Amino acid sequence: MHHPQSLYLTYLGIYSLQHRGQEGAGIFGYPDPVVIPPFFQCGAGLVSDVFSQDSLSDHSLNYAMGHVRYSTSGGKHCSLAQPIVRQPREGQYFALSHNGTIPALQERSVAGDVHTDTSRLMDHLLARYETKSPLRSFSEALKTIEGAYSLLWMTPEGLLFARDPWGFRPLVLGKKDGSPVICSETCALDIIDAEFVREIQPGESGFVSFGSREVKQSCVPVEKPLHTQPCVFELIYFARPDSNIFDWNVYEARKRLGRLLASDYQVEADLVISVPDSGVPASLGFSEASGIPWDVGIIRNHYVHRTFIEPLPGFRDLGVKVKHNPIRSMIRGKRLVVIDDSLVRSTTSKKIIGLLRHHGAKEIHLGISSPPMAWPCFYGIDTPSRQELIASNHSVEQIRSRIGADSLGYLSLETLRKSFGPNFCYACFDGRYQVAQPAIGDLLGAPV
Ligand code: SF4
Repeated sequence: MHHPQSLYLTYLGIYSLQHRGQEGAGIFGYPDPVVIPPFFQCGAGLVSDVFSQDSLSDHSLNYAMGHVRYSTSGGKHCSLAQPIVRQPREGQYFALSHNGTIPALQERSVAGDVHTDTSRLMDHLLARYETKSPLRSFSEALKTIEGAYSLLWMTPEGLLFARDPWGFRPLVLGKKDGSPVICSETCALDIIDAEFVREIQPGESGFVSFGSREVKQSCVPVEKPLHTQPCVFELIYFARPDSNIFDWNVYEARKRLGRLLASDYQVEADLVISVPDSGVPASLGFSEASGIPWDVGIIRNHYVHRTFIEPLPGFRDLGVKVKHNPIRSMIRGKRLVVIDDSLVRSTTSKKIIGLLRHHGAKEIHLGISSPPMAWPCFYGIDTPSRQELIASNHSVEQIRSRIGADSLGYLSLETLRKSFGPNFCYACFDGRYQVAQPAIGDLLGAPV
């Protein structure tokens, strides 16, 4: 963004986007006029681990970009925090922040390999970069890339941004005191009191030069795909419920998923509860549509972070209890419908069901407000391999028996697709990878 308080505003923005990545954080930027060397700070961990009061108050920036890292490739190496910065020539710095995955640039992980599709993307952009027309060279370079990206690239001339033609990941444009702000979700605009202008369109790229407040659109026409592919899983789980993305309010989308689930999965019960926090909106929708009362049945400890010491020998069963604890008086003797947003490996569901049963629930019915996830994501969500996805090699009945529920119901893909329309990506539910198929076939080890 371009603002006299860019450093602090960018810090607040990435703080509000912490849910999009907890492995690393960074900010890159300049004062006005631009001086070399730039400000650059990044590190492993949460935003609050990386930035201190001193680091924010000792500097004043007019242009800044930030990032929180969520790894889908390259592992959790701390040197992978973004923005990634290169200095190809003396005094010329380039910084790149990328959300998504570009399968053709993603190599199978090799021990010690700290390269990612993002660093390869930086090479690709630098190789085509032209000082005279940064936007043209940037847009031309992106035309030859297939995959999921919402990205920011700060060059010596200004800030470039782009969203891939399928629009997998969100990217929104806002305005703060007349200056453009570009971020993944609207919750980052809310925290800095910026006004929402619009979503960056799939296939759109643009440029804000240093010293200007004007956003220049791409001058290279992008060939649009037949239809867009925004990630439906952003609405199911990933994005913050108070954000508006893909023309949806995320909270309302999740409530709707719960209402739809109630028509696909009918069950007799005394109480609807949720697996907090992401299952809460869907559980409210389920309760509304089914007429079964809703209440809080499980409390989540919000302060469990990576720093929690793994259970010592003798405390092995601690597992899920560290994070979730039932309210015994609410669940004892009751027939419960427990709503969660997704079921990936089944390990957590099994533990939660065991915990509820141990504390006296009479029946436990598990409702999942998305279809069975049977395929990995190659477009920017960190899912396990196909072998580890329980729904890829077990029937619904086998999963039910494995997790110990009295019944298990998913939202059907048909209902999901009918309700949200064809212009979304559903590949982790149906295995139809519409984009970058050859590269994905290679990553899966077989043609798709
Ligand atoms: S495969 Fe699933 S998680 Fe990945 S982009 Fe498509 S819908 Fe989203």
